[in-house]
Amino acid sequence: MSGGLRSVDEHLDAILTATTPLPALQVPLLDALDLAAAEDVVAPIQLPRFDNSAMDGYAVRQADVATATDESPVKLPVIGEIGAGQSARPVSSLPAGTAAKIMTGAPVPPGADSVVPYEWTDRGAKDVWIAQAPSSGQHLRYAGEDVAVGDLLVEAGTTLGPRHLGLLASLGRASVRVRPRPRVVIVSTGSELREPGAELGDDSIYDGNSFLLAAAARRAGAVPYRVGLIPDEPGALLDALDDQLGRADVVVTSGGISMGDFDVVKEALTPLGSVWFGPVAMQPGKPQGFGTLSPRSGGRAEVAVPFFALPGNPVSAYLSFETFVRPALRRMMGITPESRRPVTARLTHRVGSPAGRRQFLRGVLTLDSDGVSVAEVEPVGGSGSHLVGDLAASDALIVVLEDVTEIAAGERVTVIRLDQD
Ligand code: AMP
Ligand code: MG
Repeated sequence: MSGGLRSVDEHLDAILTATTPLPALQVPLLDALDLAAAEDVVAPIQLPRFDNSAMDGYAVRQADVATATDESPVKLPVIGEIGAGQSARPVSSLPAGTAAKIMTGAPVPPGADSVVPYEWTDRGAKDVWIAQAPSSGQHLRYAGEDVAVGDLLVEAGTTLGPRHLGLLASLGRASVRVRPRPRVVIVSTGSELREPGAELGDDSIYDGNSFLLAAAARRAGAVPYRVGLIPDEPGALLDALDDQLGRADVVVTSGGISMGDFDVVKEALTPLGSVWFGPVAMQPGKPQGFGTLSPRSGGRAEVAVPFFALPGNPVSAYLSFETFVRPALRRMMGITPESRRPVTARLTHRVGSPAGRRQFLRGVLTLDSDGVSVAEVEPVGGSGSHLVGDLAASDALIVVLEDVTEIAAGERVTVIRLDQD
């Protein structure tokens, strides 16, 4: 704590300490895409499964064709044809002085030790003329050369991508244990809020936050559920939360936690005693709430669901989500909470920041001529936490640490790229 405020790091620590990975679940392979494996995957079979041909051509004994050249080709009788996936073995073994036609991926018969590709032959059916000699073992793929039985192929905690899933399927796995996507219930509070598309009164505004937060939750890998707007009445909020807790792994509210008379989230939840409300030393996003909730009405009463009460101003809500909720969701998914490693950029205009607060300013990045590395960042929109137009125009956050009150134009600053993982 510093001067009664929790630091950003202290608040994040408290959140991550209270957050644990969700119980693992066995899911069909494709449902595991982008999720963290919750098991070590060990190869139950070898790959390739058997010695097989890497080319369409003729299986031979290398010694029989060692002298073959264009000028002096070698002729061998063709004793059969081996395709991939034929159950009957057309050629049980290859006697000396013979060749067998063989297709890519087909098992190489015992006796053969190399394959002559079609291109080096006259493609004969009864006899084949071979005009070039393979080296011993050439164009063969050996059993187990890729993966041996018992190899550790995917470690628990690995985020499963297309290549991992392809490998698991190749090993015969139809399903895999993963950490599931957290179900995030998102509640907007505020009697002034209306659904987009609805009629607006003189003093009402559209609910942007639940869409902003639901989209950010989905980006983080979670499954968001938007819940209808909750007016500033404690009873309505408690009823809605009670209803939703059954299906939630996480609950996120926005609004209703500052010092106003109608700050219903704080008012309704403070008596429960399981949620911390307080100021965090950041700008925007000073008011924060975090704790756990259990349904009043029993049911999954043993389950304490992590609960985030975020401030109502849209920029504050979004920054709070990125700073606190996203790391927690990642931890629940069994992956490192940290993401989006900060980079540095040259600041185009001077910025100021209050002492003792970590400030997150919105910025627009310019890339280097290589189109990859970040060159410059231009601050947009000032520090107003209501500026959603500027928020949408930005693609980075400029981070000004607690002990810094001013950064001159031209200096290098720390930035977090928002559209990258
Ligand atoms: P509060 O934290 O409830 O005092 O709200 C702070 C400011 O954010 C007020 O101007 C609210 O009208 C605005 N606000 C709260 N919730 C939302 C929302 N869901 N969408 C857009 N603006 C909101
Ligand atoms: Mg409000």
